[in-house]
Amino acid sequence: MVEIFVINPKHRKRKIDCCACDMSYSIKDYAILFENEKLIYFKYKGPKEKSHKIYCHNCLLASIQKDYPFDEIPLTIIDDNYEYFCRYYTVESDNEDDSDFLSGLDDIFKK
Ligand SMILES: [Zn+2]
Repeated sequence: MVEIFVINPKHRKRKIDCCACDMSYSIKDYAILFENEKLIYFKYKGPKEKSHKIYCHNCLLASIQKDYPFDEIPLTIIDDNYEYFCRYYTVESDNEDDSDFLSGLDDIFKK
């Protein structure tokens, strides 16, 4: 089970960067993108990492796929005190379009 932590813009004051692609947003811009269900930053700790790092959802999925080379990866998405369980299917061709991943996360945006 891979645990990933949602970074909710409500709980953050500083700007936010992805550690993998350097995509960076002010917290104001991130809040807008988050509300429009376009972007989520997550905290994730890979099996070889010592601490959590911040990833945008695109880099997060790429990084998880590298760390766990399976067709199907069980994910626990932790958002405050809520936990969501889902499976990420790496073999589906439509994963190239990450909107599917985000649209599966409705509950997080709707809170
Ligand atoms: Zn990124």
